[in-house]
Amino acid sequence: MLSPVEKIKERLSIVDVISSYLTVNQSGSNYKAKCPFHNEKTPSFFISPDRGTYYCFGCGAKGDIFSFVEKFEGTDFLGSLKILADRAGIVLDKWNKDDSHDEKEKWYEILEEATRFFEASFDKNQKARAYLKGRGLSDETIKTFRIGYALDEWRSVTDYLLKKGYKLEDLEIVGLTKKKAKSIENGSPESQSDIRDKNYQDKSQSQQSGFRDGFYDRFRGRIIFPISDSSGRVIAFSGRTFKDEVPVVAGKPVITDAKYLNSPDTPLFNKSNVLFGIDKAKSAIRTRGYSIIVEGQMDLLMSHQAGFSNTVAVSGTALADNTGENDLGDNIAKINNLGLIRRLSPNIIFAFDGDEAGIRASGRASMIALSLDMQVKIAVIPEGKDPADIILESIDKWKDIIKNSVDIISFHLERICNNTNDMRIQGRQIKDIIFPYISMVKSSMEKSSYLTSIHKKTGLPEKALIEDFDNYEHNNINKKEIPKQNIKETNLKSKRENLEQLLFGIIFSQEKKGEKADKNKELYDLFKKIIGEEVFQESYERHKLDLETLAFETEKWYGNNINMVDRDIRELIFNLEEEILTEEKTSLQPLDTEEKLIKFNNILKRIEEIRQTRFL
Ligand code: ZN
Repeated sequence: MLSPVEKIKERLSIVDVISSYLTVNQSGSNYKAKCPFHNEKTPSFFISPDRGTYYCFGCGAKGDIFSFVEKFEGTDFLGSLKILADRAGIVLDKWNKDDSHDEKEKWYEILEEATRFFEASFDKNQKARAYLKGRGLSDETIKTFRIGYALDEWRSVTDYLLKKGYKLEDLEIVGLTKKKAKSIENGSPESQSDIRDKNYQDKSQSQQSGFRDGFYDRFRGRIIFPISDSSGRVIAFSGRTFKDEVPVVAGKPVITDAKYLNSPDTPLFNKSNVLFGIDKAKSAIRTRGYSIIVEGQMDLLMSHQAGFSNTVAVSGTALADNTGENDLGDNIAKINNLGLIRRLSPNIIFAFDGDEAGIRASGRASMIALSLDMQVKIAVIPEGKDPADIILESIDKWKDIIKNSVDIISFHLERICNNTNDMRIQGRQIKDIIFPYISMVKSSMEKSSYLTSIHKKTGLPEKALIEDFDNYEHNNINKKEIPKQNIKETNLKSKRENLEQLLFGIIFSQEKKGEKADKNKELYDLFKKIIGEEVFQESYERHKLDLETLAFETEKWYGNNINMVDRDIRELIFNLEEEILTEEKTSLQPLDTEEKLIKFNNILKRIEEIRQTRFL
């Protein structure tokens, strides 16, 4: 019997899978694309439909459909299995309770069971339903996003899952069940919610015998938004209170529970790793060519309902709560968030709340997006409003806001100019607020065009702006490197080196199998001709030191079909030649002599010839 992995591979072609993520073009018997795993202008990412594998000559990424989905979606093997099984219409076996070796699968199942339990409770809860209706959500949206309700009881979901046979410790690991806090036990509660919990516990301890073990539901009396990873598996929950009136004691509002309560970080959930709604938004982000990032769950749900299914939300309060500096850890986290978004599309619109906190939060996020070489725009949200309010008022208004979003630099420039006419203050604010963004932009052309637009808008002398900016960049080189280092691609070798290495790998692998190199003599001669006899010999000796590794790598990539690779060798050699010619072409610049010009034209002609042969 075929395993699920084999069944999936049989049903899905690698070209179909990858082309649902990337634009893919046919190139001979293979296909190629611009590599999603490193930045490049010309495609070096090859897909072989015969072997069901991909390989990037630029960064060395390689594998099959599972590793592609894993890497692209930032998920694990099980996540890629789920995504591809769904696509192939294959039902995966359920986790077996007696089988203890895959704990993760068990945890996912617990969260799935809990989600169903919350959904069923929601259907029965009149108040929760009325609340969301009042906020403008349709039944369909509620169903699609699997919104639920956690009963206002001590042990509802915990008891339900225990009865189903799951263990208390697993419920605690996935963040559904909480153990009585120490501070409650020794009578010195530290927070308002601990006091509430203590009162609650004193009461219920006498009433409920099941409570003696000290465990209780984390989410109580809240609307539940399940948070899923990109493959659609529930990994955490966000619970929202919906009692709008705040109790007042002695003229002061009493601080009750936080509006939002999120699952803690668990082995399945890292709140800076995931964006709420990513599983529902990913394909629209790709097809529409941009993403919209909002702050809250309600914003996201309303935006989807208004037809913008390319919206995701910064889950929980990860961005807005952090008023500190961009410490290193923070940066890494956000990059994880944005990595998948960037692979889907480089264009991003931040639509955060129109208050100071929202603007600060979108500023921090934009900085990281810019350093990832994304095109960042800001949707201008009227002060005191959030996207959910606006969409409830009018969908057209939301459409206009998205349509009229401006690049982050113009956005801040506009704000600075509206705040003050004093050119000295403007100058200072431009330095403080806008220079950091311009500094994140990668292209120098773009940088200088931003400086020009600041000059035009403010009347500040362009020369002074350029000078100040150069100084700024000079003084901030170190700071700037922090986020950039984090996203440093694993592009250690040049494309040329990768190609040569692969070709030698094939040679060694064939020699090892006792097939003398003369079997492919014609091709090897071509290889020699292209890189030069001398270079070939030198390179051959150098690579020979790694013979075993290279042969192994090649066999991994080509499997047992090492005899069928003639066509591939030819393709590889052509790629190599093109790469070498491109290097030569660049080195001819500037084209200031007749001789160089002739050489240049010959190179162009040859490159064209190579491209033609590839399509034969
Ligand atoms: Zn690559």
